[in-house]
Amino acid sequence: MAFESLSERLNKAIKNISGQGKLTEKNMNEMLKEVRLSLLEADVNYNVVKEFVENVKEKALGQEVMDSLNPGQMVVKIVRDEIQTLLGEEDAKINFKKQGITTLMMVGLQGTGKTTASAKIARYCKQKLAKRVLLVACDVVRPAAIEQLQTLGKSIDIEVFTLGAQTPAVETARQAMRYAADRQKDLVIFDTAGRLHIDDELMNELSEMKELVKPDDILLTVDAMTGQDIVTVAKEFNERLSITGLVVTKMDGDARGGGLLSVRSITNVPVLFVSSGEKVEDLEEFHPDRMADRILG
Ligand code: GDP
Repeated sequence: MAFESLSERLNKAIKNISGQGKLTEKNMNEMLKEVRLSLLEADVNYNVVKEFVENVKEKALGQEVMDSLNPGQMVVKIVRDEIQTLLGEEDAKINFKKQGITTLMMVGLQGTGKTTASAKIARYCKQKLAKRVLLVACDVVRPAAIEQLQTLGKSIDIEVFTLGAQTPAVETARQAMRYAADRQKDLVIFDTAGRLHIDDELMNELSEMKELVKPDDILLTVDAMTGQDIVTVAKEFNERLSITGLVVTKMDGDARGGGLLSVRSITNVPVLFVSSGEKVEDLEEFHPDRMADRILG
């Protein structure tokens, strides 16, 4: 599971200090050094680590902590809260329209789990939020992406709109909007094409689709296993498309977690969901507070 080794190291680094009745600059510096190394080892971005450690230090050296009955434990709390700040203060949610059809564009590089995540989110919105959902197969580039979405749609009993791989994605999107309006859908999820690398062709197509669909959310799927690349990819997609959130996939792997810990701080885009398996039910809402507890349990 992701974060296992980070969690182990961080807990070890601060265990010593939590038992100390008296806090000195020396024992705190030793602990901070370990915290810093744990985060760097987990592949957290260098600048993010630097700021993290500075923030912890500043708060921990505050009078209130020094004067408290149990300064060691307060420092542990400061580290834990700082992790939550990195992950986001609040839960982020899909930006549903009060009335009319909400549109959601799923974007991401090929293989990150975009098509699977489209179906997972569709299922989640149908089951948990009672939404009438339409999935739209706009990935006309990757062979078999349309069939894959159709199969997934069938398994969760959600309709999939497609005009086949020969129709340009933007045209499929245009007709899907009309189809959804005629059938009074609440939510339309567009699975778009991914490429192996970010390129102009991909971005232009996505921009064109964005112009047409005017999405309420653009969610980028990023693979937790790619470490700090999450941040690079998210930054580029954000610059070109102004994405509104992230879905972090493959959390069931042994990702070190650094990308996930850095991404919010660097892009200011929240994580909405995490995916931790290949099955349609393997999707969870992302709760920064619970994740922080999991890391520093
Ligand atoms: P796309 O090219 O981005 O649309 O990617 P797909 O949705 O086809 O997913 C690529 C592969 O990753 C498929 O084999 C999926 O079953 C798998 N996959 C997707 N999400 C997860 C996940 O959270 N965990 C694991 N282990 N595999 C996943």
